[in-house]
Amino acid sequence: MPDLAYVNGSIMPIEKATVSIEDRGYQFGDGVYEFIASYAGRLFMLEEHLDRLERSMGELAYAPISRSEIKTALGNLFEQAGYPRAGIYIQITRGVAPRNHAFASTLSPQIIMTIRPVKEMPADMRRKGARAITVQDTRWGRCDIKTVQLLSNSLAKQKALDSNCDDAIFVSDKGIVREGTSSNVFIVSGGTLTTHPLTAHILPGITRKAVLDICKATGRQAAESFFGTEALFGADEVFLTGTVTEVLPVVRIDDRSIGDGKVGPVSRHIFDLLRERALAGTSANPL
Ligand code: PLP
Repeated sequence: MPDLAYVNGSIMPIEKATVSIEDRGYQFGDGVYEFIASYAGRLFMLEEHLDRLERSMGELAYAPISRSEIKTALGNLFEQAGYPRAGIYIQITRGVAPRNHAFASTLSPQIIMTIRPVKEMPADMRRKGARAITVQDTRWGRCDIKTVQLLSNSLAKQKALDSNCDDAIFVSDKGIVREGTSSNVFIVSGGTLTTHPLTAHILPGITRKAVLDICKATGRQAAESFFGTEALFGADEVFLTGTVTEVLPVVRIDDRSIGDGKVGPVSRHIFDLLRERALAGTSANPL
């Protein structure tokens, strides 16, 4: 089965899928997206992803699309592809119109999706931990909306790879640690987890929420509060969270070791609990 695409109601092999050159997503970055992963034939935290997608669209005043329409399309694509461990990318743009900064409220949103097997994080990186750099956060002021405007994220990720590291962590001009290029950041100090609070400066990550839920369920202290680079470098453990990243320990940042420079027990435990949760559902009901 080839990797598939969905374009406004039709499913086809990815290489056959096309969109208009006057799509506002292409010309203005006027699009929002989600990336959802399945475990053993079941989409993980689907409703949370759809809640966030609806919120993103609402914040940008897109014409609404019913959740059942999106779920039916998702379900058909997922079933046709038949990948038990799939990564589904959903992108919705405001619509197609002759290029003009201003837009009409009557535009029809364009929906595309792609499905492929999840590209897992390298096993070696999971075992030994990742290395990161910090970069100044130069992104726009609405990082809570999951838009396709990812140029700063893309440049930061490439800078990390060019520096022989795995990822970059955005830090504000005042030294506040924000998030990764496609992940949220947690520090562990004295057994307590801390992550940036939900503001316009970070994405409300679904995996971040899952980790906070796990802390609540297991009685572990977790705080949503601001912290700076000193706390980051001085933490016992640091990890990134994301749909594909899951829980990824970071053992070196800007050439400084975090803790003893090895993957720590808290990160490992939270990773195990997240996987347990993800695999707990039944594939009889994929959505
Ligand atoms: N922060 C940013 C900037 C992201 O792009 C992502 C995921 O793409 C995340 C955080 C993690 O979000 P989630 O856990 O919902 O995948």
